[in-house]
Amino acid sequence: MIIHDISMSIHPDMPVYKNQKEKRPVLRFLQGFSTGESCASNLTLDTHTGTHVDAPLHMLPGGKTIDNLDLARVITRCKVLDFSFIQEKITRRELVVKNIEKGDFILLKTRNSYTEQFEYDFVYLDKTGAAYFKELAVTGVGIDALGIERNQPDHATHKTLFQAGIVILEGLRLKEIAEGSYFLFAAPLKITGAEGAPTRAVLLQ
Ligand SMILES: [Zn+2]
Repeated sequence: MIIHDISMSIHPDMPVYKNQKEKRPVLRFLQGFSTGESCASNLTLDTHTGTHVDAPLHMLPGGKTIDNLDLARVITRCKVLDFSFIQEKITRRELVVKNIEKGDFILLKTRNSYTEQFEYDFVYLDKTGAAYFKELAVTGVGIDALGIERNQPDHATHKTLFQAGIVILEGLRLKEIAEGSYFLFAAPLKITGAEGAPTRAVLLQ
């Protein structure tokens, strides 16, 4: 069995959404070996830091929170689809030619995986693609961008997926991963009442 780490490293200079300062993680050492017999630190994290799972509450008032996520939804078989050739967005047209079946958890590999900075023009899943996933009744969609959509004022991609009960996984790193079938482990931190949480995502092959 091969374990592929598909998570972002968490550090102060990591890519954060739109480079917003308040989204940068802060790791503070409370104690070190110069002051005590052990090392202990404190971490401040945005809930959408790095590789993370979005909960429906992120976009739907009254939506489910991350602690209520059924773990069977994120510890599951999955398919990686390679869309590295796409410049702007993944639409229904690109998806229909792929072998996607009911119940699949789909990870979208794009050119986003090849950069280590936040790109304002990141490749995203547009609303026609989200509608297609809803039609097919997939269980989850992951992407290698810190957001699954951009430039859609109504957030139609998030809302369509959440309303259909589809899990959204963001901030994946898929450069080294070939298109194909894998087993995904992406359980998010169990934060009561939160609308999202970081996860250490891995693929088993
Ligand atoms: Zn998010």
